[in-house]
Amino acid sequence: MNIYRKHGHSEIPNETSRLRISIAGTGYVGLCTGVGLASLGHHVICIDVDRKKIDMIKRGVPPIFEEGIEKKMKDAVSSGLLDATEDYDYAVTNSDMTFIAVGTPSVNGSIDLFYVKSAARSIGAALRGKTTFHIVVMKSTVVPGTTESIVSIIEKESAKKYGQDFGVCVNPEFLREGRALHDFMNPDRIVIGTGDKKSLAQMEDLYKDFGAPIVRTNLMTAEMIKYASNAFLASKISFINELGNLCKKLGLDTYKVAEGMGYDKRIGRQFLDAGIGFGGSCFRKDAEAIIQKAKSSGTEMRILQSALQTNLEQPIKIIEVLEKRTELKGKTVALLGLAFKKDTDDVRDAPSICVIKDLLAKKCVINAYDPEATKNMKTIFPSINYTQNVQDALKGADACLILTEWEEFKDLKDDDFFRMKGKIIIEGRRVLQREKVKNFEGICW
Ligand code: NAD
Repeated sequence: MNIYRKHGHSEIPNETSRLRISIAGTGYVGLCTGVGLASLGHHVICIDVDRKKIDMIKRGVPPIFEEGIEKKMKDAVSSGLLDATEDYDYAVTNSDMTFIAVGTPSVNGSIDLFYVKSAARSIGAALRGKTTFHIVVMKSTVVPGTTESIVSIIEKESAKKYGQDFGVCVNPEFLREGRALHDFMNPDRIVIGTGDKKSLAQMEDLYKDFGAPIVRTNLMTAEMIKYASNAFLASKISFINELGNLCKKLGLDTYKVAEGMGYDKRIGRQFLDAGIGFGGSCFRKDAEAIIQKAKSSGTEMRILQSALQTNLEQPIKIIEVLEKRTELKGKTVALLGLAFKKDTDDVRDAPSICVIKDLLAKKCVINAYDPEATKNMKTIFPSINYTQNVQDALKGADACLILTEWEEFKDLKDDDFFRMKGKIIIEGRRVLQREKVKNFEGICW
C-alpha cells in the first residue's frame, strides 16, 4: 500500500512538497532507498560509477534481485521520478540532498573508506557550482567519527562552508536483503544524526510519514547505533549456534529451546534459528570494523570477537557431520542453496563459500543449485557444476547439503531424493519437513 495512504494521507506529495534527492551508490541500500523514495513521489537521481548499472536502471531493470523492486522501479522510471547517471554535477545540481550509499568493505579487519571518500570528493566538487543549501546524508555504515571527518573533504573540494552552505547527517540503514524494499518502507525506527537544525528539519520532513519512531542524535551516536545493532544481532546468532551445537550433543531439540526462549519479550524469537552461521556483506565486516575501532580506542570487544570466531567455525561443522557418514574423496556432493540466505542473489560471505572450498580441498565433485545466486557464485567458483534445478543437482550424488532456507526446499519429499546414489542429507538450515523426508540430519539437530 502507498505509504501516504497507509499513514492516513490521501495524496502523494504535490509538486511543491516533492523533495529532490540524489543517491551515490546503487547497490542494495542505495537502489532500494532510491526506488522507495521515488515510489513515494519524490524526484530521485541515482549515481553510480558502474555504467552497466546506470544503463539498467535507466531502462527500469533492477541490477539486483529484491522482492517487489521490479514493478516499483519500472513505475518510477516511467513516471519520470527515478533517473540514473554517472555524472555527479548533474545529480547534485538537480537535487537538494545527496545520500552516500556506497560500499564500506573490510580490509584486513578495518573499514575501507575509499569509496566513501571518493563519493564525498565528487559531491564536494559538484557543490562548487551550487548556490543553494545542500545536505549530504551518510547512509553507508561507517565507524564513529567518519562522517565528521568527511566534512573537511567536502569543504576543500567545494570551497563552501559546513553549516552555512551545506549540512551533514548520518542516517544509517537497517534493511535486510531479500526484504530490502519492504524494510526501507517499513522501518522499525529512523535514526537521524546531525549537528545542524536545517538538515534535521529536512530529514524529518522526508521521513514524517513513515510512521516509525525517529531517534534524533549527533553524528557519532547515529554511526554507533548501526554498529551496536549489527554487533548485537551477530552475537545473538552465534549464541544460538553454540547452544545448538550443545543441544545436538545432548539430544535436545534446539528449535524447541529457541521457542521457549523466544516468548520472553526481553529475548524475542528472531535470530534464534541455529544453523550454519551468518553470512552477507555486513555482519562480519561491521563486527570487524567496530572491534578494530575499539582496539584503536584502547578497549576490547571480547564477546563480539568470540561471536566472529564461532561463526567462522560453524560452516565447517556441516562437513564434520558429513565425514562421520562417509569418506569424502571422489564423492559427489549436491549443494542446495548458495545465497547467504533465502530471497537474495547475494553470496558475499555466504557460508556456502567456506563449504565449497572445503569440499574441493577434499577432492569432491560438486553439483550446486540455487534459484537466484548461481550467476554471482560462478564469479567465485567458475568450474563447479551448476544445475538448473534441485533434481539435476541430486542426480547421482552421494550426499546432499542444504545451505540456504529457500522456500522451494521446504516442499522436498523422500521421492525427490531417489535420484541420489547414496541418501545422506544434512541440513545447514532447518527447512525439510519431518513428515515428508525421513533420515536426515541437521548441523545442530
Ligand atoms: P553494494 O556493494 O551493493 O553497492 C555499492 C554501490 O556503490 C555499487 O553499485 C558501486 O558501484 C557503487 N559505488 C562505488 N563507489 C562509488 C562512487 N564513488 N560513486 C557512486 N557509486 C559508487 O553495497 P550495499 O550492500 O548497498 O551497501 C552500501 C552500504 O550500506 C554499506 O556501507 C553497507 O555496510 C551498508 N548497509 C548494507 C546493507 C545490506 O544489507 N546490503 C544493510 C544496511 C546497511
